[in-house]
Parts: sequence; structure tokens; C-alpha cells
Amino acid sequence: MLISEYAEVVINGSNKKYYESLGYIIPKYKDKYGREKYKKGQTIKVKVSDLQKTSRVEVEVQCDYCGENFLQPFVRYNRSKKSLIKKDCCGKTICQRKKERRSDDFKIRCKTSNAIR
Ligand SMILES: [Zn+2]
Repeated sequence: MLISEYAEVVINGSNKKYYESLGYIIPKYKDKYGREKYKKGQTIKVKVSDLQKTSRVEVEVQCDYCGENFLQPFVRYNRSKKSLIKKDCCGKTICQRKKERRSDDFKIRCKTSNAIR
């Protein structure tokens, strides 16, 4: 279960238009030529529901097995929603086992995602 409501996103060339189109204000300053610029590493607070599905920003998620909160990149959270069992797993062995017992298919997926980690 997703806990975070908001996330801090670092603005870069590829996402600034996306967030601006959603109405977010990105703090800018004018350089000596009067051009609008934003600081490198500038962050803005956005609603998790507005995050790009591929965003790597970490969001707080509650494990459906032990109830503990853990941080997970948003992109991985979205990926887990596409898998067979739509449950959130903190990755602890005891929780993964509970999950695995329910599906052999998941066992494979769980191992794959650990390999990426
Ligand atoms: Zn857990």
C-alpha cells in the first residue's frame, strides 16, 4: 500500500515540461542575459499521483505482509502493480516467503527483481 502522498522530485531537462504542464511552479531565476533558468538540483514537491510512472524517486510503501513501511523507487512500485500478485513486499526473506507460497510464478519475479537491486 502506498503511504507517501507527496514526493520531492529533482527537476531536470526531461521532466520540467511535464511538471510545468501539470501546473507546478518551478522556482527560477534570471541570469545576466535575462533568461529564465532554474538551479541545478532544484527540487519541487509533487503529488505522488502526478509522478511520472518511470520516476526513480523513492516513495514510502507499506509491506502487505509485515506492515512495516519501506522506501521503494516509484518505478518499481508501478512495476509491482503489473505483476500477478498486486501486493507490496518489503523484500525481507520472511515476507517474500509468504508471497512465494502463493505463487510459483511470483517466485521467479521476486528473484528477478532482487537481481536488479
Ligand atoms: Zn515485510
